[in-house]
Amino acid sequence: MGVFLASVFNDFLDKIHSKKTYTGCKYAENSLFFDYNNKVKLCPYNDLFVVNDDFDGIWLNTAKVKNQRKIMLENFINNCHPQECKNCSNLKSLEIPETKTLKSLYLAHWKQCYLNCNYCNFPKVDDLIQAKHYDIYPVLMHLFDSKLIDKNTKIVFQCGDPCIHPEFDKILSYLINYEMKDIVINTPALRYCESIAEAIAKNIAEVIIPLDSGCAYIYEKIKGTNKFDIAMNNIRRYLSFQEPGEKRVILKYTVVNGINDNQKEILDWFIWSRDIGIKKLALEIERNWYNQIKNSVPVYLKELLMFAKNISVFNNLEIEFGENANDLYNKISKEDR
Ligand code: SF4
Ligand code: SF4
Repeated sequence: MGVFLASVFNDFLDKIHSKKTYTGCKYAENSLFFDYNNKVKLCPYNDLFVVNDDFDGIWLNTAKVKNQRKIMLENFINNCHPQECKNCSNLKSLEIPETKTLKSLYLAHWKQCYLNCNYCNFPKVDDLIQAKHYDIYPVLMHLFDSKLIDKNTKIVFQCGDPCIHPEFDKILSYLINYEMKDIVINTPALRYCESIAEAIAKNIAEVIIPLDSGCAYIYEKIKGTNKFDIAMNNIRRYLSFQEPGEKRVILKYTVVNGINDNQKEILDWFIWSRDIGIKKLALEIERNWYNQIKNSVPVYLKELLMFAKNISVFNNLEIEFGENANDLYNKISKEDR
């Protein structure tokens, strides 16, 4: 049955290959998500294209993953998009996929975190108690065996803090030994992990650390706990493993309404990062706030974004904008034309 579905999917991709583009979703097309509530699915934001509703870590039906991708692609190519997709900014004109392996695997089957960011959308304790937890390690081996992932698949450890998970070091060491090329780890860096340091030293992982501030006072206001110094120390330790010219340790700043949305805080964050040797920053605007104001963005927020861009260019320090910041930056660029 599995072989049959795989060949159906491959035939399907071959058949549609003559068509160059379609309106689709880069996530659903290329990714698989293991979510905190035990769902395994193709769409990160909605319960669309669900492979397993209540996964227990025992056996993943990989033939069903391939079949769900086929159904999703057929629907998109035939312009039958679910209502949720029609309202989603991820629906874009895309080229027909050439690869049959997944480009990205998102591991978010836990959400515990040492922090309590005031913008956190992730579930709180009650939901987590209800969610069962399982060991993803045998699932990864199964995905490799079934050729759904290979060394080139990007593995993304999502927020909460994956370092809390008891299996984290075992999983990451397995991926390092498997010679994976592209691993992304979102962590507040409150627990130092030798396996992360090793992945940085081997140039195969990016570690994204949400700091959102340049001082302990604002950090505590946003994160609900005063652990700025612990994060700073661990960031320094991780940086000591980064080779010159590499950009493996990335500090993230989420702009939060009324707390860190000012040039002084951005500058403090920027100077602190530059002075300890950070080579890449990431900036985003808090999602709920941005959704409320995106049709009438205050001038000071536009200026803040341009300020961050200008100081990074001036200091030759790369800054990557997240989805909302990028959307605003594009709007500003159009207004300037
Ligand atoms: S809802 Fe958005 S992210 Fe989900 S499949 Fe549709 S376009 Fe992709
Ligand atoms: S670090 Fe991420 S998961 Fe943790 S509280 Fe902040 S936003 Fe939530």
